[in-house]
Amino acid sequence: MAIKEEGYNIVLETLDPCRVGGVEDKLSGIHNPVTKVGGRVCIPGASLKGAYRTKIEEFLIDTNTRTNNHDKASKPCIPSTKLSSNEEKLIGKYRDRRGACHYPCDLEEGHRRGKCGNERHPICPACYLLGAAGLNGFVRTVPFLFADTSTSQLYSAAMDRATNTVKEGANRPYEVIPSHTRFEGEMVILIEDTILGWRLGEPRTAADKTLGDAWLNGKKLDPDKLIKEYVKDRLESIQWIGGYKSKGCGRVKIKVEGPI
Ligand SMILES: [Zn+2]
Ligand SMILES: [Zn+2]
Repeated sequence: MAIKEEGYNIVLETLDPCRVGGVEDKLSGIHNPVTKVGGRVCIPGASLKGAYRTKIEEFLIDTNTRTNNHDKASKPCIPSTKLSSNEEKLIGKYRDRRGACHYPCDLEEGHRRGKCGNERHPICPACYLLGAAGLNGFVRTVPFLFADTSTSQLYSAAMDRATNTVKEGANRPYEVIPSHTRFEGEMVILIEDTILGWRLGEPRTAADKTLGDAWLNGKKLDPDKLIKEYVKDRLESIQWIGGYKSKGCGRVKIKVEGPI
């Protein structure tokens, strides 16, 4: 088999009312609706991926600090070009460098000044899993999670003040997903691609200019252990999703089941 993948079922249960917002829906007239696709309430892959990525980064920073690992390639990048002043402080100590991981490096050639100058850059562990600009990661899909709830079960927080579930009333009503709503979706992880010569837990061979998966140089991580430490445990450590935390929204519990 050229490509070996594993599927994992992600089950998310809301412990509080949950607020993952879509854009204003002029048709329904609902202010601040929750995200729906084809009428089904969902948590978009991008929201879950953002929360997951934050957990991988925390884990890497924590592990590197604990084990006194100063290897630059083991530090997570910051996947945005504009840094906040708090993020600026993290560069060097916890983070490797400015900017996001990318492939290939844009090197200087003749009189042309490439974005990377004359420096090649590695792919950080977070981007090894989730993908960098120009290069896929081993976690093929962070799925949309769909709820088993119908939209009629959603309620508008401003109208629900009496129940005291959401303490603060809003100036404008906003939709929330009730507590104890169950969401599900399937995540796919690439284990091996014999055509590309990729194997989860090992550095990938790259034809073009890069330092590649330097965090794995001379190492071979057990795929099952890697999936547990970097995927399952990290996803299950997510405790919040979405916005309106100050209004009592957002606590969740995640369970990753599989391989299925
Ligand atoms: Zn990165
Ligand atoms: Zn570069």
